[in-house]
Amino acid sequence: MVNRLEGRDEDEGSALGVRSPLSPWPFMCYCCGQCFSSYVFQMESRPKYYGREFHGMISREHADELLAGVEGAYLIRESQRQPGTHTLALRFGHQTLNYRLFYDGKHFVGEKRFESVHDLVTDALITLYIETKAAEYIAKMTTNPIYEHLGYTSLLKDKMVHRLSRGRTEPRRVTFQKDERITSPLVRRSALKDTPEKQCSYEKIHNFKVHTFRGPHWCEYCANFMWGLIAQGVRCSDCGLNVHKQCSKLVPSDCQPDLRRIKKVFSCDLTTLVKAHNTTRPMVVDMCIQEIELRGMKSEGLYRVSGFSEHIEDVRLAFDRDGEKADIGAAAYADINIIAGALKLYLRGLPIPVIPFDLYSKFVQAAKIPNVESRLEAIHESLLQLPPAHYETLRYLMAHLKRVTMFEKDNLMSAENLGIVFGPTLMQPPEQNALTTLNDMRQQKLVVQLMIENEDVLF
Ligand SMILES: [Zn+2]
Ligand SMILES: [Zn+2]
Repeated sequence: MVNRLEGRDEDEGSALGVRSPLSPWPFMCYCCGQCFSSYVFQMESRPKYYGREFHGMISREHADELLAGVEGAYLIRESQRQPGTHTLALRFGHQTLNYRLFYDGKHFVGEKRFESVHDLVTDALITLYIETKAAEYIAKMTTNPIYEHLGYTSLLKDKMVHRLSRGRTEPRRVTFQKDERITSPLVRRSALKDTPEKQCSYEKIHNFKVHTFRGPHWCEYCANFMWGLIAQGVRCSDCGLNVHKQCSKLVPSDCQPDLRRIKKVFSCDLTTLVKAHNTTRPMVVDMCIQEIELRGMKSEGLYRVSGFSEHIEDVRLAFDRDGEKADIGAAAYADINIIAGALKLYLRGLPIPVIPFDLYSKFVQAAKIPNVESRLEAIHESLLQLPPAHYETLRYLMAHLKRVTMFEKDNLMSAENLGIVFGPTLMQPPEQNALTTLNDMRQQKLVVQLMIENEDVLF
């Protein structure tokens, strides 16, 4: 399909020869009969990443003549109006199409980036051909998607049910321990699993990234072929769904992350993590809080005193490696500040904080309201806008922190103290700069303090 324009210009060697002072002057260009001085200039101005398709600073009309109506032929010219910028002139559909051509290590005219201009032109010709010949078909492609009835969703549900039922029939190891306060992680985990609120029904948008497919692929939304040389479509990096770029906008928010694709626990998006593990909250939050409530509520300076950072790092690695099987019991980490530190590290390291960036200023503004009741009302309003997984995590955490304050006599942690600790952990401004951080510190503390104090009415 591709007709490469055979270079009718001479190679660089002979062009250099002409530059000898003895050469008679001027010459006429072999390819177009123009003055050779402009030809020499072309060769001198040729960027090293262009080959013989580069024709220097020739006019749009002249490029048109050179392409001589050969479908698929192309050349590169330097813009006469903006020297230093380049245009790809390509014959398609009996006309010359002109595209501004860029290079940054790869060649591109739009979003797709190519190793060579040849690949770019090949892909452009495939795309132009399909879009011209099948425009009507493409327009209708998405009107009757297979997605709903063929049941990507139900397929996944089956997978999920299968996984869960398999989990239930696995024999449970029973441990007999004299000290009732120390339960094994396995027993704790099963208790966590059997709670009725367990089934997770949060919506999650797919995490589509442009993808180059090797070999033929068909869209899992509209069932049609994904054409093109590279970047033929997008793939969800959480669940692996492959669709056309235009179809990706129509896919519902029903991403069910695949555990094999979610490599980490820490630094993983909160909703993605709970969907992948099918829990209502991140298991780090549940497990750390249960551990702290088991043996740390009276610990002086709980959440304020920091544990050894190497040990906290160990806990992080354990969660990333073992997920809900991570052993964070007293035998592994005797110092409860390590567990408290790991929980804070987890919350602080979320790519989207528990109070997401887009709601940050809403919370800060709410905290600035002088009237006590209106202020609580505004915080409540803002809470209702949180994504479900974030809301659920915050609700659970605030109920726990409230219980922490009930032991204030021993642990010396008031709601205000906890506000100082958790303010910047739970909410960070969308654009980090020292001044905003400093200005908002008071409000961050106040938001958390108020949420702890009024946990029962706010959630
Ligand atoms: Zn997905
Ligand atoms: Zn499609």
